[in-house]
Amino acid sequence: MKPGTVYLVGAGPGDPGLLTLRAAELIARADVILHDRLIPAEALAGAGPGAELVYVGKQGGGEQVAQDETQRLLLEHARAGRTVVRLKGGDPFVFGRGGEEALLCREAGIPFEVVPGITAGIAAPAYAGIPVTQRELASGVAFVTGHEDPAKPESALDWPALAAFPGTLVFYMGVRALPRIAEQLMDGGRPASEPVAVIERGTLPGQRTLLATLSDVAERASAEGIRAPAITLVGPVAGLGEQLTWLEQRPLHGRTIAVTRARPQASALAARLRELGAEVVEAPAIRTVAIEAELPELERYDLVCLTSPNGVHALFERFGAAGLDARALAGRRVAAIGPGTARALAEHGVRADLVPERAVAEGLVEALAGVAVTRALVVRAREGRELLPEALRARGAEVDVLALYETVAEPLDEQTARAAAGADYVTFTSASTVRFFLAAAGALDGPRIVSIGPATSTALREAGLEPDMEADPHTPEGLVDALLADAASGAPPR
Ligand code: SAH
Repeated sequence: MKPGTVYLVGAGPGDPGLLTLRAAELIARADVILHDRLIPAEALAGAGPGAELVYVGKQGGGEQVAQDETQRLLLEHARAGRTVVRLKGGDPFVFGRGGEEALLCREAGIPFEVVPGITAGIAAPAYAGIPVTQRELASGVAFVTGHEDPAKPESALDWPALAAFPGTLVFYMGVRALPRIAEQLMDGGRPASEPVAVIERGTLPGQRTLLATLSDVAERASAEGIRAPAITLVGPVAGLGEQLTWLEQRPLHGRTIAVTRARPQASALAARLRELGAEVVEAPAIRTVAIEAELPELERYDLVCLTSPNGVHALFERFGAAGLDARALAGRRVAAIGPGTARALAEHGVRADLVPERAVAEGLVEALAGVAVTRALVVRAREGRELLPEALRARGAEVDVLALYETVAEPLDEQTARAAAGADYVTFTSASTVRFFLAAAGALDGPRIVSIGPATSTALREAGLEPDMEADPHTPEGLVDALLADAASGAPPR
């Protein structure tokens, strides 16, 4: 049998956006992915449905055992004709044992390819605002393992030479050896005042940078509890971190925020929160499922009300099945409950005639006050509120309710529920997210509770939770603004 190709692929330092196009392409194509611990979950999510994912990180049995086992698996899968992606953090050839694995393939006659990744030693400083080279400050950079005990006489590192190196020193794996690294460099002649940066969880939402000097870095790193994975960078460029820091300045940096809305709607909110620096826990508590319902004759109505983007999409799905399109709404007045619903209509080529200022049923009722309505159709979820149909009926209109979908619980796994409950904020974007999330995760004690609007707040209070903030306007944008205001007001992260 013709052996499969082994791809030694770098996944970058952690931010999923730093995965290369080539890496993403190979991950999607792989039959087997042998991956390390520090691989972004989003990278693995790109694997094909039939791909086998095997975690081969260092285990309790010792590093060497794990490496032998990894090599055995690599050969076994390739020999079986599979396309193997060996996915490593950062770059496979920078302290990644990629060279050893390439040699192994070479000896075994297995074709291989190397896909470089962005190495932590460049990426973590960049995300801390530290250029590893800079005219007049550093004309070179050295990547060094901090793994070894620098005090051992048999250390492979030539400390006097490293101390004399005319440029930036970047140490990988050196958190525990920090005191000895600093000592050896000072012994070798580097000034005690030389700037040092220790960057923990570089490029990730929890990134933390310690700016210190050779003389105090060990003490301060231990006082602040800096832990692996971290890069230690020594050299005058480290001082630039003070002026050029950017990631850690983002308004929601260091905050963990749980998003409970349904998966399809969660991603836009999650993306916005991540851009603002937050670590997002996606904990979808609900999911919508279509309800089989007869489409009424639309010509009979002079008003069609849409109360959610879901309702809009469900209606157009029904139109499609019936061979209709947006023209089915021609001549009707179309009202949307809020900007999100109006946007969903626009996606289908329909401009809403009416969008209330307050994105709640009450707001829509108010906005309709001056509008003559004889017969209205309200498109909504099965469990929707009765307020709008009742208000229209009270005004003498005939109202039909067309329930096109219903909201059901999305199972929440224990790990996600725990992560959400441990977040700084939990966001609720509808009454059903409240009910289903609390049913799955149990009581919430600790996170600040963020509600999108009055109906959601009522559901929270019914469940015995007082919202810490309510968005105004009652939209995802309003919710983000409420979070920003709260974070800026100095509420400390948990
Ligand atoms: N091949 C990897 C390095 C593997 S060695 C690369 O090219 O980046 C593992 C060490 O890399 C860790 O001990 C730590 O020093 C560093 N490291 C990896 N990811 C990191 C991150 N996100 N932030 C800071 N350091 C990181």
